[in-house]
Amino acid sequence: MEHEKGSSLDSGRKEKIMEIKTITEEKEKIKTKLAKVKHKIAVLSGKGGVGKSVVTANLATALASHARFIGILDADFHGPSIPKILGVRGNMLSSGPTGIFPVIGPLNMKIVSFDFLLPQDETPLIWRGPLKMNALRQLLSQIVWGSLDYLLIDLPPGTGDEPLSIAQLIHGLDGVIIVTIPSEVSQVVVKRSIGFTKRLNLSVIGVIENMAGFICPKCGSKYDIFGSGGGRKIAEELKVPFLGSIPLDPRISQCSDSGVPFIVEDPDSEATKSFNEIVDKIIEKVEGES
Ligand code: ADP
Repeated sequence: MEHEKGSSLDSGRKEKIMEIKTITEEKEKIKTKLAKVKHKIAVLSGKGGVGKSVVTANLATALASHARFIGILDADFHGPSIPKILGVRGNMLSSGPTGIFPVIGPLNMKIVSFDFLLPQDETPLIWRGPLKMNALRQLLSQIVWGSLDYLLIDLPPGTGDEPLSIAQLIHGLDGVIIVTIPSEVSQVVVKRSIGFTKRLNLSVIGVIENMAGFICPKCGSKYDIFGSGGGRKIAEELKVPFLGSIPLDPRISQCSDSGVPFIVEDPDSEATKSFNEIVDKIIEKVEGES
């Protein structure tokens, strides 16, 4: 009996050791697969629904139109929406002898998302805790990104263990962009997001305020639906860069639903101008430091 107990303990220990070995090997492979990616930026929002994915997709498009090679990792397990926003939903990741290849989106952007692995019938997939991280680690260890100027990582919303573990998987992150909306309550969330980046020892590239001011297409009046200037205020208070504001524009939402990046659809809009100005600041900050 004692002997049996001992051997099951031994096999439990062996299993654990094997698991740790696999994790370490996969982390090393991720590092190798990302070796030719010059800059890696995580996009974070302390809470969902503030437009993090829409901002990520449009920033990526703006960076690509600034002659940069771009990859996007949509690491939001529960609501992977980058493929829909960029019009590549329904595509599949392909594989070859060297690994798994991203889906190619507009402007040659390389896109990896869990959406490409899920059934397209909107069936919610229930990912249990550690399974999610195992799946992501395994997937990332095989992705052939090749040479990229930027990889943008759309993290799951919040500042909990999940975005933290994902950010830790990506070796050598340049920093984090925080997306927020102007409301008072969002300012508290931004504080938490900055705390999150400190825990990871990362720099905050800057704060972007989305859904800032709605300009009525009929009368031209501006309505500050979620308040005004909250993003700038909190960035100044916490001494992190403020990158800019994107207006609330129903056409942004319509474009995202139809799979056309807004900055391509309406290159002369106020929002496109803001995205381009923000991208200029990101390039200056990130490439200026390297
Ligand atoms: P998150 O990734 O933070 O959960 P999403 O990017 O999915 O948020 O955006 C949430 C919703 O808000 C979507 O329907 C999106 O189209 C819409 N949206 C995002 N930004 C804007 C904006 N600036 N103007 C209008 N609608 C927006």
